[in-house]
Amino acid sequence: MTQKHDNYINGAWVAGASYAANVNPSNLGDVIGEYTQADAAQLDAAVQAAQAAFPAWSTGNIQARADALDKIGTEILARREELGTLLAREEGKTKLEGIGEATRAGNIFKFFAGECLRLTGETVPSVRSGVGVEITREPLGVIGLITPWNFPIAIPAWKIAPALAYGNCVVLKPADLVPGCAWALAEIISRSGIPAGVFNLVMGRGSVIGDPLVNHPGVSAISFTGSQGVGARIAQQCALNLKKVQLEMGGKNPQVILDDADLAQAVELSVQSAFFSTGQRCTASSRLIVTDGIYPQFVAAMQARMATLKIGDALAAGIDIGPVSSLSQLQQDLDYVSIGQAEGARLLAGGERLQRDTEGFFMAPALLTDTTAAMRINREEVFGPVASIIRVKGYEEALAEANNTPFGLAAGIATTSLKYATHFKRHSQAGMVMVNLPTAGVDYHVPFGGRKGSSFGSREQGRYAQEFFTTVKTAYTFA
Ligand code: NAD
Repeated sequence: MTQKHDNYINGAWVAGASYAANVNPSNLGDVIGEYTQADAAQLDAAVQAAQAAFPAWSTGNIQARADALDKIGTEILARREELGTLLAREEGKTKLEGIGEATRAGNIFKFFAGECLRLTGETVPSVRSGVGVEITREPLGVIGLITPWNFPIAIPAWKIAPALAYGNCVVLKPADLVPGCAWALAEIISRSGIPAGVFNLVMGRGSVIGDPLVNHPGVSAISFTGSQGVGARIAQQCALNLKKVQLEMGGKNPQVILDDADLAQAVELSVQSAFFSTGQRCTASSRLIVTDGIYPQFVAAMQARMATLKIGDALAAGIDIGPVSSLSQLQQDLDYVSIGQAEGARLLAGGERLQRDTEGFFMAPALLTDTTAAMRINREEVFGPVASIIRVKGYEEALAEANNTPFGLAAGIATTSLKYATHFKRHSQAGMVMVNLPTAGVDYHVPFGGRKGSSFGSREQGRYAQEFFTTVKTAYTFA
């Protein structure tokens, strides 16, 4: 018998209409647990509970708020190994990567515990004599949080922690593929001293409870991370209902390698950001843009390095890359390899499904060469261990290719030239720019997000999170 896990609504664990099995992508015979599926009525109950809790929470003692968030962060950090293992088991990133993500989630709660006490306002003189002006920030009300499957603990954390810190109440709807980490987080929050109704967890499919959450009149704002298609639809619904919305979506992130790059470093950061976490990161580099002079050495070194990668069970020791998270994602990854080849690209390495001791969704990371910017493989997000190389003549062409994308999340450059690094940082059309670092891998205390088709609305994380999770009030006093 696998354990059953329920929704968390108004401070109580509540069963939904049915349960869905959460299966380990490294071993399809391993069922992590059964997770309940909420319906629209349960979603409504969660929103109502959050609405009822809002007046007291939003005006309550900020030390109590800070203490609760700090307690959550402390417990996550103390249990990072166990939570990281659960994460690897349900999502498929390696155990080490899972522990890293759990650590990030703990640190985020601790950061926002401090932010509870750091929210400031301004007083400015009025243009009218005898009048004072105060500018303050206030919480929005109930916020709907909708999260994807690829960071099942960090992304819920980086939405829940600021939402609560600034005095909002929340309803979290995690991705239905990975409810385990969200449930574990909810369980920790349930023992933190946060009053009933302030935080609610509803699990289930986007089509069943995502829509009602976005359209619920009791929800003031939606913070969404996921695909561009779903995000665009949510933005339309929020516009119709005049709700504040924040979207973090896909990427087609470029990694530029210039002739003067340190070759070993360029190869390592390219392999890391293209293929680690099975390439399932919105910030993964999927376009490696390489200048003529270093091209032959870079391609040969990439091929050699890729041959050393160990792909297998996410929980096994010594594994570099775990499985793809689901069968449908694996099929999409394999399809894009075929699409690339049909468009004229050459498959240099990988690109096939792998068999291991257990039945799972293992795939050899794929590297395509001889690709052009017009190919679908270079325009559409694959969201798997699939990268392509675009050969260019020099820096100007590399920069133009890097920006030649409908996305704008992250961009990287490998170079020893201060001139090119500085120019790239200034002219890259991306929200996050890396010099001699992988495009994936960012700090938790600074703003995260992109531009163009990757993001919509204000930034997440760090103190910039207050832009979304608060609203500004301007108050005038004549005395
Ligand atoms: P997805 O869009 O399929 O799902 C995201 C969430 O939306 C899930 O919880 C899903 O259940 C929900 N959803 C689906 N239909 C809905 C609807 N009609 N109404 C409301 N909610 C609905 O994305 P995914 O496959 O879970 O995640 C992968 C995507 O997320 C990739 O595109 C990736 O780039 C992106 N991502 C972006 C960031 C970022 O910060 N920019 C971070 C991680 C992942």
